[in-house]
Amino acid sequence: MSATSEWTERYQGAVMNTFGPPKLVLESGEGIVVRDVEGREYRDFLGGIAVNTLGHAHPALVGAVTAQLQQLGHVSNFFATRPQVELAEKLLEVTGPGRDGRVFFANSGAEANEAAIKLSRRTGRTHLVAMEDAFHGRTMGSLALTSKAAYREPFEPLPGHVTWVPFGDVDALAAAVTDETAAVVIEPLQGEAGVNVADPDYLRAARRVTTERGALLWLDEIQSGMGRTGHWLASSPYDVAPDVVTLAKGLAGGIPIGACVAFGEAGSLLQPGNHGTTFGGNPVACAAALAVIATLESEGLLARASETGERLRAGVGADDRVVDVRGEGVLVGLTLAAPHGPHVVAAAQDAGWIINATGPDRIRFAPPLVVTDADVDALVAAWPAILDDAWARGAAAEAAATGGSS
Ligand SMILES: *Cc1c(COP(=O)(O)O)cnc(C)c1O
Repeated sequence: MSATSEWTERYQGAVMNTFGPPKLVLESGEGIVVRDVEGREYRDFLGGIAVNTLGHAHPALVGAVTAQLQQLGHVSNFFATRPQVELAEKLLEVTGPGRDGRVFFANSGAEANEAAIKLSRRTGRTHLVAMEDAFHGRTMGSLALTSKAAYREPFEPLPGHVTWVPFGDVDALAAAVTDETAAVVIEPLQGEAGVNVADPDYLRAARRVTTERGALLWLDEIQSGMGRTGHWLASSPYDVAPDVVTLAKGLAGGIPIGACVAFGEAGSLLQPGNHGTTFGGNPVACAAALAVIATLESEGLLARASETGERLRAGVGADDRVVDVRGEGVLVGLTLAAPHGPHVVAAAQDAGWIINATGPDRIRFAPPLVVTDADVDALVAAWPAILDDAWARGAAAEAAATGGSS
């Protein structure tokens, strides 16, 4: 029995089956390379779903985590620690330069969003407006704002008063936001939906409409934030001045963390006793995030993300089996000419590349920001053969399905 089958069997015997069978059993990694238990190497163009900002085993991250754990690993929120305070200050500086604000630390994206939901309730209003195709997480509150029926329906009833509007439709948004709306939540770049980029004018209109009705504008930048798009936030270039920004995924480069950043009066909506967490703001996680941010700055990785992202989009988009390429920086999505997404992922994996399908015809790339031009060029060179293989698998699957039914 191979090491992969053995670990897969043990996984299935002991871990809940919420994710389906694992695609690989991974053991080590360095930079953008990961290795499985058979010693096979893969170049990671998914980065733990937009998480491994600095790739695998980056010395700055390993060093910061090790040093902090040796010094002080956890203390509870009865106490402050230096990394937590420094990270809060740094997040305010990069996400809302010159603005007054406050940060609540959590351990994941969904938890950052739960904090934002509770904060929005403290306005005295309960209605929320969310976008069609939105993904905000799997906890009951964040699920109430996630549009996909397959995720929601098994768990209804979910917390209520959510109005859905088409992503990008200003008139629909203006009609949906009322004097009872606590907050409008938007992903400036919808990641799970397959990388849909909001029009800057839509974000500006959302700011105008929410200000007029006294509602909060909350941007979920959990996937798009912290440098991935070539800016600290996907919304940074557009001067939208949101009231709330939620962050997680890439923030600490793979160490679990989430943050709910609130500006102006929104920063004081949650008062003592309103919310809490045991692990949130943990000094090791905060030291990790500080190391990630310092490395992004010292290595100029935001500018690099813009350049490598452009190169990746041009390269993979050149094949005529790709009908549309989208994204900002190293968050890239494309639409295939046929619903062979899962075959493309499987063919890529067999050729030594980790990528992901967000839908039957949608592929997503979210490589670490340390990805080089040479890495991108190597993937682009391998891409036509990956698509050949995927199309062949697709044809074989169709033939098998037709053969089986006749
Ligand atoms: C991943 C994601 C979440 C949920 O984050 P978890 O850490 O999985 O709870 C929420 N919003 C967006 C936009 C995401 O991409």
